[in-house]
Amino acid sequence: MPAPGELTFVSPRGAKKPPRHLADLSPAERREAVAGLGEKPFRAKQLSQHYFARYADDPAQWTDIPAAARDRLAADLLPDLMSVVRHISCDDDNTRKTLWRLFDGTLVESVLMRYPDRVTMCISSQAGCGMNCPFCATGQAGLTRNLSTAEIVHQIVAGMRSLRDGEFGAASAEADGGPARLSNIVFMGMGEPLANYNRVVGAIRRLTDPQPDGLGLSQRGITVSTVGLVPAMLRFADEGFKCRLAVSLHAPDDELRDTLVPVNTRWKVREVLDAAWHYAEVSGRRVSIEYALIKDINDQAWRADLLGRLLKGHRAHVNLIPLNPTPGSKWTASRPEDERAFVRALEAHGVPVTVRDTRGQEIDGACGQLAAAER
Ligand code: SAH
Repeated sequence: MPAPGELTFVSPRGAKKPPRHLADLSPAERREAVAGLGEKPFRAKQLSQHYFARYADDPAQWTDIPAAARDRLAADLLPDLMSVVRHISCDDDNTRKTLWRLFDGTLVESVLMRYPDRVTMCISSQAGCGMNCPFCATGQAGLTRNLSTAEIVHQIVAGMRSLRDGEFGAASAEADGGPARLSNIVFMGMGEPLANYNRVVGAIRRLTDPQPDGLGLSQRGITVSTVGLVPAMLRFADEGFKCRLAVSLHAPDDELRDTLVPVNTRWKVREVLDAAWHYAEVSGRRVSIEYALIKDINDQAWRADLLGRLLKGHRAHVNLIPLNPTPGSKWTASRPEDERAFVRALEAHGVPVTVRDTRGQEIDGACGQLAAAER
């Protein structure tokens, strides 16, 4: 059965599907696939070890598998999924954005961000996005297609490999002795993750299954960000993950939110927040309320107060994001004094609030900007 939200988005007729890959499959399905190729089922574990524990997708490195079997297994289970169009770095090399080209020419982005205490990777779950939020670069181009589970997972495998091999963040790691291991994943790149429900859930399993079945990342380090697809949020709560849920609210009132996050015409602020509190209850995790501050649009004192009243007493944390204007946008980030007043109003209600640091602005770091520039 299609997941909620998936029904609305039909792939263009005749579009080819991404090739099947080890990372699309559960451990049991991998054994079946390997057996189907006439190989011993234990080769599935060996392949998983190479891919999920060593990030080695080049068959030449699989020395524990006979050469003849390697090519057959590689062709069937580890096809090339994507190639790097370019990397762009900034923030003293502590932020690196990668533009990927997928098998069918589709472009997607991922971003690695190194902080003193952690490394976060921002990944895409769809090529484009069907949610049409007017301030978001990805929203402007519409949805091209869903990414496969393996296309989602491979962005992270590539990121982990870059970190391990010192291609990213090595200079700072040496300077401050901090970790250079990936600890946090945010589904805040291109796409609406809950509109590609089954593949995103599959990706979370691959990311968090212990090695070598998966990458062995902690569920607590994963954040799934949604516009507020209520039925999918409720279903996601039932998965039993300890992931963090982020809700892109951007307005506390339906009148404005209908325009900033058009899916609000379907699921209202009240319903979205109720679904968020349900997730918080089931997962035991505070929900992150994302709020892009847009000058004179959603940054008024009365809206801050209304937001504070809606969130008060709930397991929530507000993440204010200074708007990163997309090219040609009539909107801009809030004045510093309005931003400070907004923070104070939320704090007056006892609501925890942080202002997100805006990494990567000079590399078109905002959602979808790099791919838009390429097109
Ligand atoms: N579709 C999901 C995840 C992708 S966007 C979602 O909407 O939550 C990740 C976050 O970046 C969302 O909160 C989104 O609203 C925000 N965002 C998008 N474009 C932005 C921009 N130009 N400036 C600031 N935040 C932006």
